[in-house]
Amino acid sequence: MSTPAKADILKALSSVEDKARGGNIVALEMVQGITIREGHVLFSLEVDPARGPSLESLRKSCEEAVYKVAGVLSVTAVLTAHSGPAPDERKKPSKPASAAPLNIPGVKKIIAVASGKGGVGKSTVAVNLAIALGQRGLKIGLLDADIYGPSVPRMMGIADKPKTSSDKKLIPHEKYGIKTMSIGYMVDEDTAMIWRGPMVQSALMQMMNDVVWGELDVLVVDMPPGTGDAQLTMAQKVPLAGSIIVSTPQEIALADVRRGIAMFEKTHVPVFGIVENMAYFISPGSGEKTFIFGEGGARRTADTLGVPFLGEIPIHTAIREGMDEGKPIVATAPESEEAAPYARLAEDLATRLAAGDSTRPAPKVIIE
Ligand code: ADP
Repeated sequence: MSTPAKADILKALSSVEDKARGGNIVALEMVQGITIREGHVLFSLEVDPARGPSLESLRKSCEEAVYKVAGVLSVTAVLTAHSGPAPDERKKPSKPASAAPLNIPGVKKIIAVASGKGGVGKSTVAVNLAIALGQRGLKIGLLDADIYGPSVPRMMGIADKPKTSSDKKLIPHEKYGIKTMSIGYMVDEDTAMIWRGPMVQSALMQMMNDVVWGELDVLVVDMPPGTGDAQLTMAQKVPLAGSIIVSTPQEIALADVRRGIAMFEKTHVPVFGIVENMAYFISPGSGEKTFIFGEGGARRTADTLGVPFLGEIPIHTAIREGMDEGKPIVATAPESEEAAPYARLAEDLATRLAAGDSTRPAPKVIIE
């Protein structure tokens, strides 16, 4: 069987209309990176993620159109995000949004909650910390910058799309006393999204710049996990007052912490300190502490690296349940034993911010 030519694929795709934008998807320059391998066709469709689940039917129409071309054995169309400021603005992004100077009028301080790797409880800390800071009377925003796996919508129990203002800026949701924005409010969790490096950057900058945050004392940013290019750029472009690094106690996690601290050091962002999450489990009957991941690892690493140790958070079923149900423990049971570590962390951080501790330079870290 003959291998289909790129021209045939493009011809088939030009029959697909993007009704929202009023034109065929090839003419609108939405089709990118057509790859044909022995009858297997792959391409991406550049879209505005704010359009949400309606994109899925467009993606499917593309696959169906290409499948009809002679010689095609399989078709895979993936949605990639471009960062156009609004769905109906047709202009191609000529330069990434990140090129614009970051200016969030009204936002006094931005702090990053980061981790060397995923699954350590970074988002759980970011959400509960933001709410606890709000309970101290501060005006708080929470930006979910973890665009690979935005979990803030689930943790905050928010499923609605954000509204837009008359000048096409996004209006953050307000719940539990704080404002929040997440790419997850715009994109269906099941919509396949592939983010290319520059897009990550511009999507993040858009979420900072094109959101009506209003007056905020602190914007808490739930960073993407790890220390790759996206994180580095974020640390470089955003005027961060400081960062908090979340880790579990194991050695392996702590090696990632060192890398995380080095990243902030490279970008001259002060490190407020390390929080040890899942530090121990308290047996319900005896109250005995079990150090599932070893004892005191994060504290030792903090000492070794010369950064403050910001405290430990035990493993509690109630913490996980709260996050799964969209009811963070700090909001639903602020006086509980489970909420106490977050309240202490908020108090500590508020003191550091007030004392201008953010001017302290990051420690020197050398990575072998
Ligand atoms: P990350 O943002 O680092 O990927 P998450 O905050 O999503 O991690 O947490 C991963 C999982 O662990 C979630 O199910 C969360 O509810 C749970 N979790 C986080 N911290 C705790 C804790 N202290 N006790 C119990 N479960 C926790």
